[in-house]
Amino acid sequence: MVQRFESANWNLNLSNKQVIEALPCCGEEKANMIMSEGVWQTILDHLKRELPREGVGVLSAPACDKGYANLHYIPLHNLAADEAHFRVDPAEWVSLLHELERKGECLRMIVHSHPAASPAISREDMLHFHYPDACLLIVSLRRPENPKGRLYKRLGGGFERLSFAVSP
Ligand SMILES: [Zn+2]
Repeated sequence: MVQRFESANWNLNLSNKQVIEALPCCGEEKANMIMSEGVWQTILDHLKRELPREGVGVLSAPACDKGYANLHYIPLHNLAADEAHFRVDPAEWVSLLHELERKGECLRMIVHSHPAASPAISREDMLHFHYPDACLLIVSLRRPENPKGRLYKRLGGGFERLSFAVSP
């Protein structure tokens, strides 16, 4: 089963049982992203455990892998005192980057949840995103039984929204 995520305008391209295509609203740039059901469930398990606080983690992949196969989720600790932000200890962040380097992995996605809000990117999310090579995945748990994911990538001074699908 392929689970689709809400998206402004789906332009589905069906090939080899995979369903994915970039949004036409995002210009010429196209991005394909399929996440396995197992990885998606691992992310959701962690983000739900963190409720009512925001959860945060990253997805890494082998550096040589140009696609989004072999994604590996690494949960991080949210140090923010309130329920509407996340903050990662700089020491944890640095050791994560060293660990990825040691393993020859690269940072593909930074993930965080919006426990009570839509998965729309916030002004603060934009201001604090400093990794142009990685995507930003926001998961809304406003209805935990029906999580909504949205994927963004930095494009120039702003962010473009990408579509993605979860596939077994
Ligand atoms: Zn956010």
